[in-house]
Amino acid sequence: MTTAIHVDGVSKTYRDARGHEVEALKDVSLEIAEGEFVAFLGPSGCGKTTLLKMIDNMVQPDRGQVLINGTTAAKATGQIGFVFQDVALLPWRTVLANVALGLQARGMRKAEYTRTAMDYLALVGLERYADYYPWQLSGGMQQRVGIARALAISPIVLLLDEPFGAVDAITRKSLQKELLRIWDTLKITVVFVTHDVHEAVFLADRVVVFSANPGQVRAEVDVGLPRPRDESAVTANPMAMELQVKLTQMLEES
Ligand code: ADP
Ligand code: MG
Repeated sequence: MTTAIHVDGVSKTYRDARGHEVEALKDVSLEIAEGEFVAFLGPSGCGKTTLLKMIDNMVQPDRGQVLINGTTAAKATGQIGFVFQDVALLPWRTVLANVALGLQARGMRKAEYTRTAMDYLALVGLERYADYYPWQLSGGMQQRVGIARALAISPIVLLLDEPFGAVDAITRKSLQKELLRIWDTLKITVVFVTHDVHEAVFLADRVVVFSANPGQVRAEVDVGLPRPRDESAVTANPMAMELQVKLTQMLEES
């Protein structure tokens, strides 16, 4: 097993507006293998976003360190794809221009970044919408653009922070399947943050359960369901049901 992400004893304390200290993460350690699909599952405020931001070098730990492919998170900057909870597309740029943004910033020539951005739009099934503006798309389509944008830079790791929380249940299901298809195509390491037990079990190879105040790893659970997965396989599988009950109990106690 090659380790893609090594979180080594990280802690982070924030100070809120009143000067109170919040222990967002306390002595968190975990390893994620290359090509693995890991879900971070935990209640609001348990430090999931903080940990993703540490992996992408946007937040620095007070103690401990994060290693990406054996080097520091600082050195891996620009090689991490991040899909935000609120998408955050630029409204004045077309869909294509949004996806191409990171490539342009790297100094790629127009012909090349256009072609690359189109390839990733095709991967998420949106090549027909290249010239649209973000506000002309549905929420689910915007999230697809967010995924294309994150992938366009050919990242070594893809981080997704509760990406499907704001879309309706049917769209969510199709986005989940889409993500699994993309993961299978690109064989990329994925960290997917969610507070939805079913989503974690449906998607992941392994679920890391966090508890809040302070944010700590409560358990790591292998999912072990066969792939490719479809909804009925997960819903009808007794092992999957048992796993969901167990994870729900852990969440309630965390
Ligand atoms: P999650 O994503 O699991 O909801 P976060 O990582 O966003 O958790 O936050 C963990 C804790 O740290 C929360 O109590 C949150 O209020 C606090 N926190 C996060 N970011 C900041 C910040 N920039 N300043 C102060 N407190 C913060
Ligand atoms: Mg969060």
